Amino acid sequence: MSERIPFTTQPLSRKPCSANGHDRRPRTGSGIWRCKLTTITPLTIHALFRNLAENENAYLPGSSLRGMVRNVVEMLGAGCGRFYDRPSPPLLATCTRDATCISCRLFGFVESDSGWAGKVRFEDTVTVPVRWERHMVPTQRPPQAPGSGWLIFPCTRPQLEPGPIRCAPAGTEFRFRVDYTNLNPEEYAVLKFALTLTHGAITLCHTLGYGKALGFGACKIELLQDRSPAIGPEITTYLNQLPFEALANYRRRP
Ligand SMILES: [Zn+2]
Repeated sequence: MSERIPFTTQPLSRKPCSANGHDRRPRTGSGIWRCKLTTITPLTIHALFRNLAENENAYLPGSSLRGMVRNVVEMLGAGCGRFYDRPSPPLLATCTRDATCISCRLFGFVESDSGWAGKVRFEDTVTVPVRWERHMVPTQRPPQAPGSGWLIFPCTRPQLEPGPIRCAPAGTEFRFRVDYTNLNPEEYAVLKFALTLTHGAITLCHTLGYGKALGFGACKIELLQDRSPAIGPEITTYLNQLPFEALANYRRRP
C-alpha cells in the first residue's frame, strides 16, 4: 500500500541557483561520501536484474539512488512540485533560475532550452556477487493513496512467496560514492540527512526498486569512515514540520 506525506506549509528556501554555483569547489561544502547501502528486505531493480546471468555480479544505478534521495528531500519540504504528478499547491510552484528550491539546486533541473546540472553526483554502486532469491513481486503499479501530498511507501516486511522475480536478499551490501560541490550549510544539512536518514536518535529507512508497496526494497545507507561535518542546526526547522512527522512514522526501520 501507499500513503501520503502532507505538503509543507512553510515557504520553500529559494535562491537564484547561480548564487551558489558549482563553478567553484571550496573545501567547505564540498567533498565525497563513501556510502554503504544495506538491504533490509529483498530488493529488485527488475529491469536491470532480470537481464543478468545467474552468476553475474550486480550493481545499483546511481540514477536510482539519486532519485530515491531527491524524493526524500522533496518530502522533507525542501523541494518544489516539479515531479508531482498533479497540480501542486502555490507554495510548491515549479522553480525558475532566479528562485530555485534546495532540491533543484542540489539535483538540477531543465527549464525550456537550458538546464542546471546540480551540485551532487551519485555514482553507480560497485558490482558485487549476489545470492539471488526469487519471489512473487507484482510488476504493475499499485493503486495510489487518495488525497494530495507526496506519495510514500511505508517500510514494512513483505510476505515472501516463491516467484519469478530475482531479488537481492536482505543483508546485501552495495558500496557507492556521492560527490557534492559547494553546498551552503542548509543544502548540506538537508542532503546529508536525506541520504543517511540518521540524526541523533532518528534512524529511518529508504525504499528502492519494485514492490515497494508490499515492503520490498527497504534499505539503509551508512557513510564509511565519515570525517565530514555533522548535520548542522539548519535541519531542525525541517524536523519540526508536519511532513517529517509523517515521514518518520512511515519509514521506521522494520
Ligand atoms: Zn525546485
